[in-house]
Amino acid sequence: MTSYLLERAWVDGAVRDDVHVEIEDGRFTSVTPDWQSLNLSGGARADKFRNPRSTGDSERLPGLTLPGLANCHSHAFHRALRGRTQRERGTFWTWRDQMYAVAGRLDPDSYYALARATYREMLAAGIASVGEFHYLHHQPDGTPYDDPNAMGHALIAAARDAGIRIALLDTCYLSSGFGEPPTGAQVRYDDGSAAAWGERVAGLKDEDGVTIGAAIHSVRAVPKDQLADVARGARGKPLHVHLSEQVAENEACLNAYGVTPTKLLHDAGALGPLTSAVHATHLTDDDIALLGSTHTVSCFCPTTERDLGDGIGPSRRLHDAGSPLSLGSDSHAVIDLFEEMRATELDERLATQRRGHWTAAELLDAATRHDSLGFDDAGTIAVGHRADLVTIATDTPSTAGTGADENTAAFAATAADVTHVVVDGRVVVRQGDRDEIGRALATAIERVWA
Ligand SMILES: [Zn+2]
Repeated sequence: MTSYLLERAWVDGAVRDDVHVEIEDGRFTSVTPDWQSLNLSGGARADKFRNPRSTGDSERLPGLTLPGLANCHSHAFHRALRGRTQRERGTFWTWRDQMYAVAGRLDPDSYYALARATYREMLAAGIASVGEFHYLHHQPDGTPYDDPNAMGHALIAAARDAGIRIALLDTCYLSSGFGEPPTGAQVRYDDGSAAAWGERVAGLKDEDGVTIGAAIHSVRAVPKDQLADVARGARGKPLHVHLSEQVAENEACLNAYGVTPTKLLHDAGALGPLTSAVHATHLTDDDIALLGSTHTVSCFCPTTERDLGDGIGPSRRLHDAGSPLSLGSDSHAVIDLFEEMRATELDERLATQRRGHWTAAELLDAATRHDSLGFDDAGTIAVGHRADLVTIATDTPSTAGTGADENTAAFAATAADVTHVVVDGRVVVRQGDRDEIGRALATAIERVWA
């Protein structure tokens, strides 16, 4: 049994003081706020938190402790693009050519090293679960590896060795555009048919901390007549899809099928509470109503959407229609869920010229939504739940004087303020780990570009 004494923690939708937690077999077995007042006379609490050593058998964690964060949309290999594509002019589509250059260079070994280092960066930012939207399946000429899931297995091993939970969202990608075959790097993504995709994915197995889910890359990458096959293949598991990130995709879909991408997915039976619509940027009123009435999750990735010039999606209107919000760092221009939280609110302000669309508590809910990754038992500091703890310092230049409450998390903190991270009861990041994480990233990225 391990126990911690948390100076302040987010429990039951509120910040509580002196929270004592006990952990066994990776789960919380007790959660007790106001521990000191139950056990000590007044005044002792302050002394304990000033004392740099452990109090009794419980390790003390000063600052504000949150449940583990969920990064619901990741392409791990895009981390190699940070700082290299931002200097270029162009559009999403010219950025995509640069991204394909990295996609063409990776093999299972270099992918493992890059993903492991990237997942360590996520852990250091307080992320306990990652949804890896994985489409880089085959060798550069499109031939399957001897193990047809060699790349997927590399990602699972990278996550396990880094210490993060993973939903491997194995992605079906069959066409470059509407009626166009894959070309260039895209041949690495292509299984030939939804049926062949399903056969390959059947070789991947769930294990503790690993969910095998599915993804439709986009409505341009899976022909209409095979969308329902992928949706059926995903039944009971998470299904993610890039949706209406670009106006050009909406226009091409309307030209090809006479309906919006949202309507197309709905007609194929691909929407529902286990589906996450990633980006959901350029939507009609009817699209919003369909996503809301089916309780499809909206996964927003504001730092990527601004990096790529995608536009600003209607996050609040989707939520009010019935679509829960989740967050992701997608292309990893930034890996900082605190920034994704506040960007969701701040983008709405830019779009509407009004303030106050999302409360800090709602944003924290979005950042701790693990159920769209198949981890329904994570994201809450509560008995029986997975024991994830993310502690942020409340006395740094970013966070000092901000109240040490949920507004600190949503509107002041950065990933650099995270001091201590526990995932499934195991300490995965301690203060001082950042140097090692930076070195591993530099080495892995140099290898990709060498
Ligand atoms: Zn994406």
